[in-house]
Amino acid sequence: MTEKQLQHFRQTLEKQLKESMLMFDLIGRSINRRKGVLQEEAKDKATRSDDFKLLLQQADQERKRVGEIHQALNRMTCGRYGICVACKRQISLSRLEIFPTARFCLECTQLLEQEEKNREWARASTR
Ligand SMILES: [Zn+2]
Repeated sequence: MTEKQLQHFRQTLEKQLKESMLMFDLIGRSINRRKGVLQEEAKDKATRSDDFKLLLQQADQERKRVGEIHQALNRMTCGRYGICVACKRQISLSRLEIFPTARFCLECTQLLEQEEKNREWARASTR
C-alpha cells in the first residue's frame, strides 16, 4: 500500500470515528432522557421498553464500531493496516474501500463464515 493510499484510509477512518462518536453521544443522551421518562411514568411499558432496548442495542453497536475503528487506526500506527490478521496477506483495496476496518481478507472471511456454518450444522445434527 502506498503512503497516499494509507493517508486516504486514515482520513476515511477518522471521519467514521468522528461520526460514530457523535452518534454514540446522541444515543447516550436519548437513553438518559428516556430513563427519566421511564421513571416518571411506567405506563405503556411494553412499547417504551422496546424502544429502550433498541436504543441500548444501538449504543452497543456504535461502541463496537468505535472499537473497530480504533483497532484499525492502531494497526495503521504499527504498519499492519490492510494486512489480513490470519494469513498475513494484503487485503484488497476494493475490500478496504467498503470495509475500512476489515481485519481479514476475503478468502479468510469466507473460510470463517463456512466454519461458522459447519459448526451450526454440527450443533443442529446433534440435537
Ligand atoms: Zn487472509
